Amino acid sequence: MAKLTGIDIFKLTPKKNCKECGCPTCMAFGMKVAQGALEISKCPHMAPEAIAKLSEASAPPMKTIKAGVGETEITLGGETVLYRHEKTFVNKTRYGVNVCSCMDDAVVEEVFAGIPKVDYERIGERMFAEVINVAYCEGTDAAKYVAMVERAAGMSRTLVLDVKDVEVAKAALAVCKAQKPILNGANAANYEAMNALATAEGVVLGVSAANIDELYDVTAKLEALGNKNLVLDATGASIKETYAIAVQMRRAAIKNSDRTFGYPSIVNLAKLAKGDLHLQTALASVFTLKYGSIVVMEKIDYSQALPLYGLRQNVFTDPQKPMKVAPGIYSINGGDENSVCLTTVDFALTYFVVSGELERSGVPCNLLISDAGGLSVLTAWAAGKLSSSSIAKYFAEFEIENKIKNRTLVIPGKVAVLKGDIEAKLPGWNIVVGPNEAVQLVKFLKDMNA
Ligand code: SF4
Repeated sequence: MAKLTGIDIFKLTPKKNCKECGCPTCMAFGMKVAQGALEISKCPHMAPEAIAKLSEASAPPMKTIKAGVGETEITLGGETVLYRHEKTFVNKTRYGVNVCSCMDDAVVEEVFAGIPKVDYERIGERMFAEVINVAYCEGTDAAKYVAMVERAAGMSRTLVLDVKDVEVAKAALAVCKAQKPILNGANAANYEAMNALATAEGVVLGVSAANIDELYDVTAKLEALGNKNLVLDATGASIKETYAIAVQMRRAAIKNSDRTFGYPSIVNLAKLAKGDLHLQTALASVFTLKYGSIVVMEKIDYSQALPLYGLRQNVFTDPQKPMKVAPGIYSINGGDENSVCLTTVDFALTYFVVSGELERSGVPCNLLISDAGGLSVLTAWAAGKLSSSSIAKYFAEFEIENKIKNRTLVIPGKVAVLKGDIEAKLPGWNIVVGPNEAVQLVKFLKDMNA
């Protein structure tokens, strides 16, 4: 069904203008629903027929699919735009590593051993290989494959079972179905049997095909069988073909409202660029931007992870929302009321860099974060959001005078110009100009404490 406009939706509302939906009028409600900013269910007076009609038309063009359980649960798809600057991308690309039944035992061991090695935090987000793709090569030892699946299932990662043989898939699911893996098994030859298996086990079914037309046909057939819990394997015979499939699928879903292609995707770079880790990393960045929901590589080490995860974090943040931490008093290294105070802005990157350096110093202290609109130090200062007045206001709001006995406040070196004004606004406080860069804080605090 074609996308409904605000006027179309308004015509279906009860036109009571009762404001119960939080909008001043039914017309405003219609506009908000059309923009995707409100759910139809927010109007309690909508007729059931109107809800049915609107639900279908206003459903997201791409399905949101969940795989895994508990801490390994991942959410894929649910995207509503082609370009991040239009609105925002909602569910980040998940990176995975690949093991295959055709690999030597030593290589499999090396891949498994490497999985936990990359695990770190950046701006409050855990970065690690979230997915293990366990592939079965036809004609190889099924028992070895099942043992690999069992081992992968014990690693607290979401599993993708890349297996087209129904019997082997059954055996693999028997040892890992509790983890709700993705069964990437359906193709033109076996989709009915794989669909029956995935439905019976309650797992997401992956669909792959020889080309994009066949992928569309098999997906349509699975939908006709009632299965809409799908992910589509966009991996083609070449990099060029894979890119074309990934982009055409997204365009068909978002621009043409063709829901048959409205599913998350898998891109397997271990197949596309076998043996070339640098190329896999470069391609992973491409498919992070161009619509890979799960991107599988042969392995992920720090040299791959640092640029990739940083890129992902940039792409999958909402450009309309500043990355902020909540204003407050953050105790570091057990800092208490007698510990020195440092202040900086609420921009998340600044907070995590500064707090990391403070932790590294080992000196107990309090980091005072004021509301600076999510801007960096100099930008906030230039915009008037970091000033002697904003700091004095923050001190009053958070009752710093009552909560902290220590009277030394370190301000960022880049706003040394504020020192005199802050001293005037906070009588009794010793205002110290700190270093320009966070990395200098360790030495600065140690010297101060000496
Ligand atoms: S709750 Fe329904 S009837 Fe009331 S203003 Fe909103 S859309 Fe109109």
